[in-house]
Amino acid sequence: MSKEELECSFCGRKKPETNLLIAGLDAHICDRCIEQAHGIVAEEALHSTNSELSKELMLKKPKAIKAFLDEYIIGQDHSKKIMSVAVYNHYKRLLQVKTDDDVEIQKSNIIMVGETGTGKTLMARTIARMLNVPLAIVDATVLTEAGYVGEDVESILTRLLQAADYNLEKAQNGIVFIDEIDKIARKSDNPSITRDVSGEGVQQALLKLLEGTTVNVPPKGGRKHPDQKFIEVDTENILFIAGGAFDGIERKISKRLNLQAVGFSASKKEKTLERNNLLKYIIPKDLKDFGLIPEIIGRLPVLTYMDPLDKGTLRAILTEPKNAIIKQYKKLFEMDDVEFVITDEALEFIVEQAVEYKLGARGLRSLCEAVLTDAMFELPGTDDKELHVTRDYAEKKLNKSTIKKLKAVS
Ligand code: ADP
Repeated sequence: MSKEELECSFCGRKKPETNLLIAGLDAHICDRCIEQAHGIVAEEALHSTNSELSKELMLKKPKAIKAFLDEYIIGQDHSKKIMSVAVYNHYKRLLQVKTDDDVEIQKSNIIMVGETGTGKTLMARTIARMLNVPLAIVDATVLTEAGYVGEDVESILTRLLQAADYNLEKAQNGIVFIDEIDKIARKSDNPSITRDVSGEGVQQALLKLLEGTTVNVPPKGGRKHPDQKFIEVDTENILFIAGGAFDGIERKISKRLNLQAVGFSASKKEKTLERNNLLKYIIPKDLKDFGLIPEIIGRLPVLTYMDPLDKGTLRAILTEPKNAIIKQYKKLFEMDDVEFVITDEALEFIVEQAVEYKLGARGLRSLCEAVLTDAMFELPGTDDKELHVTRDYAEKKLNKSTIKKLKAVS
């Protein structure tokens, strides 16, 4: 057979009609058929990963979910337990086969109440990582009712689509973490006094998403691209996790519990203990008293709280989680063949500073950065192969760093 007579065994195109004809044992395939076959393979792979994912998820029981969370999150046992069950039930719901018994498992969207820096976002992140689903983290404060300056609630889904690389199916099984949900609480008890653009109106708009609906989402977000095509996103199977500090909610809890107000002589420490204890008693009614509308509360049926971080927890956060900050620095130095050792006293000092600066766990990283930047700048490329950080060293580095200024403003 002459070269010109060769043809694709799949579509029959002659060699000159193709860009490329690849020979097999006793068949040929052209570039177009390869492309097409590749598309089919990719499609199949996607479907099978989805069902694989489901199977895998079913194997992970709540205890296993919690064990996974334990690797990354210190303490917060109560919250981790509640989350494990909620996530397990959510995915059970996704896998439920429609039966005749009319029992339909409803969504278990979650709301977490706890001071900033106690690990709410980390919790959402860890769950998304475990499930290998896309996660969008959005700040409720930027959301406004449609037509006002700010972002429409649909932008949440734009973020999720982006996190899923525009894979619609993945996005529709993803997780949305709405941070600072407390900031869209109704400002006054009387909703009709003024138009509440950033409060109740946003809550109303969010409701639709939480309950499960189809939303036309601008894939690039915003109104800057008026002619972009919309993508229809079904929010039915998206797990929503909301988080907020709800500053002052303990007063509402204590009022409900009929507790005496904290006396004048009570020390600051007692007050934090009080708050610590009080959040444990939180019930949906407290969220309503704070200014969330009952419909929203109803759509976030799983309510949990985060414990404030004490010194012991902060110390553990530095070294224990799978990707603990200190472990990360060790690895960074290792890449330059530098052995990084930090003493217990130095760690203790960093924790004390984090407490003093009221930065919570969030401050640990900036403090470590302030202590270690000089070494990270100077050691690479030198013969110094060891870095021994003592309390003294940490104190000196911190004293000359700009982070000191933080103390002045806090
Ligand atoms: P929140 O969302 O409650 O404001 P984050 O989850 O953003 O707090 O926490 C800030 C950082 O503090 C996280 O990146 C994490 O490194 C650390 N962190 C906070 N709480 C914990 C915890 N319980 N266990 C481990 N790390 C934590």
